[in-house]
Amino acid sequence: MNRNLRCRAIVLRTYPIGEIHKGVVLLTDSNGVVHTVAHGAASAKGKLRALAELFVEGDAALYHDPVKQSTKLQDLDNPIMHYGLRENLVKYYAASFWVELIAASHRGGGEHDEACYALLSDALAELEQAAEERTLELSIYLMWRYLGLLGLAPQLDRCGECGREAAREVPLFWALGGGELRCELCRGGAVGGAAGAFELTPPARAYLRRLGDVAARAEDLRTIRLHAEQARRLHALLAAGLQQALETRFKTLESGAAVLYGRR
Ligand SMILES: [Zn+2]
Repeated sequence: MNRNLRCRAIVLRTYPIGEIHKGVVLLTDSNGVVHTVAHGAASAKGKLRALAELFVEGDAALYHDPVKQSTKLQDLDNPIMHYGLRENLVKYYAASFWVELIAASHRGGGEHDEACYALLSDALAELEQAAEERTLELSIYLMWRYLGLLGLAPQLDRCGECGREAAREVPLFWALGGGELRCELCRGGAVGGAAGAFELTPPARAYLRRLGDVAARAEDLRTIRLHAEQARRLHALLAAGLQQALETRFKTLESGAAVLYGRR
């Protein structure tokens, strides 16, 4: 990283450092995930006090000290505060899940930095102004596109084992740890056996196919809707697939599942 860097950035995570400083994990459009320190951000008069908060997006000024191997967040100009995401519990948990997912898995410094940034920025903006009941659909969109960026999105109409094309009306199964889908016959050979493969129903596959075909941006989702129960199941399935593929557990989903899935 250059000593001085200006880039677009979204706050993924913050944590206290001593009494008055904050650690701030950023997703940037040029360098992927960057861990920074915001000096004085936890003090009453710190200029970054209001900005070093979850989901805030802006033009970041970073200074990298090559000797200390640390990066300082100096400024976050023209901020988009995304207050609407913090005022609605369902949206808050969804957005928290997205930033946790990306903080945990986006390596950065690669070809996908810009695309990953655009995906999150776009999805946060759409979620903020969307009706609450569209939250899970937006979250499915984000996960599906993110799986694609990671190279983990399976082909939707072919069995990855026997290579047979699958009719649109039959279910396919997604094996443990991501990978390709399998047909009913090949399901048992998946890692973990038949029980370890999630069923991807025809409506769920149709929805994902349409996300790939139509939705270049999150706002295009306004015209593609999914039934609430289908959305809950598909969301849980994609989240489980991501957890297995990335070998992690998402804390936000453990604490926020009841809110996200409407089982309050
Ligand atoms: Zn097969």
